[in-house]
Amino acid sequence: MQTHFTPEQLQDPALADANGILRACVHCGFCTATCPTYVLLGDELDSPRGRIYLIKQMLEEGRPATVSDARHIDRCLSCLSCMSTCPSGVNYMHLIDTARVHVEKTFERPAAERLLRKLLAFVMPRPGLFRHLISAAALAKPFAPLLQRLGFRRMAAALALTPYSLPRESLGRPGHYPAEGVRKGRAVLLRGCVQSVVDPGINAATIRLLNRFGWDVTVSGGESCCGSLPHHMGKDEAALDFARRTIDQWTEENPDIIVITSSGCGTTIKDYGHMFRTDDAYAAKAQAIAARTRDISELLEMLELPQGRAGVRVAYHSACSLQHGQQLKTGPQALLRRAGFEVVEVPEGHICCGSAGTYNILQPEISQRLRDRKLANIATTAPRLIATGNIGCITQLGLKSSVPVVHTVELLDWAYGGPAPALADQAGTDAH
Ligand code: SF4
Ligand code: SF4
Repeated sequence: MQTHFTPEQLQDPALADANGILRACVHCGFCTATCPTYVLLGDELDSPRGRIYLIKQMLEEGRPATVSDARHIDRCLSCLSCMSTCPSGVNYMHLIDTARVHVEKTFERPAAERLLRKLLAFVMPRPGLFRHLISAAALAKPFAPLLQRLGFRRMAAALALTPYSLPRESLGRPGHYPAEGVRKGRAVLLRGCVQSVVDPGINAATIRLLNRFGWDVTVSGGESCCGSLPHHMGKDEAALDFARRTIDQWTEENPDIIVITSSGCGTTIKDYGHMFRTDDAYAAKAQAIAARTRDISELLEMLELPQGRAGVRVAYHSACSLQHGQQLKTGPQALLRRAGFEVVEVPEGHICCGSAGTYNILQPEISQRLRDRKLANIATTAPRLIATGNIGCITQLGLKSSVPVVHTVELLDWAYGGPAPALADQAGTDAH
């Protein structure tokens, strides 16, 4: 694709990057077929190719984002399915990130939406505050249908996603959890902000499993949010501030591996090298942290776990951040099969479930259509359980699924001697 940035514009590293990305696109349109918003809405401007044109125009002209620009950019899930499909290696992730920052800086959203975005970006990365917000929101949850009827769609969607109560879990608090038997290495586990509040059992299962197979695990008290949530809302300064604190803490911890159980966070952390490329003080540290970061499934694959006898039929839902963002497409299923689960693949497995960070609150209609489509596809496989590797997908699908939705690592912990995940009990399954 031809571009027309001026030499002055190309002095800006973000525009110079965007220029390189845009030039790689050959307009072939292969990406449109696998884009969830294009599949649902059928509008070229809601396809990757359409958004690429739109972003090119907006950035080249150096003008503020229009209502139409913001609408089509906001509707993008950042699921990155288009990157998996693109034969030309277009780095759509970095392009849409730049576009979101531009929209955030130049577009005046309606006051109520501005306030909601500020609230989400401020509260969700802070587990203490988030816990209080959830407790308060649980009281208002019965009013969700009324709010929906009155037209407060986003608030209704947020309340619908709110659990009535929060689980407590002591394993997973900041501390050092020593390996059983011969020690093979030391991992720092990202505690996570949303996940540590709404489903602390995921980190607890991770610690038990890694300890059992010879890994020390440290949960650091000093880390903050990885920056993923504000990053995806175009709030770059907040994202970089969060990320700096986490990089400093992990650099001091100096583990063999940084292990992530929330694949949305993993995709962002693995991209720290790019996010800090122009920051002289952090570029090298960020690169080093990114290089040591692994999704939990990657670390478990290295451990060569023994053959198990779980014997339960599980539909594996591949989170977009894992399959497209990190290109980890087969490892989790192989681990589940090794543990003895009967793993069934879901039709249209490349299409997003509609969770996408705060997307299910900010774009409720598209998000709910994608969720219903995903659950209908899963239902064709008649599973006893659904496994996935991202808390966003667990919350999104769990809201309407008749089948329990659990994290892959909870099933693996169960298969190798840990307790059954709370929801799996309801499925009447027995992995041992
Ligand atoms: S990231 Fe997902 S929603 Fe956005 S353009 Fe690519 S495929 Fe479509
Ligand atoms: S598949 Fe790649 S090269 Fe083709 S239009 Fe989409 S982004 Fe451009």
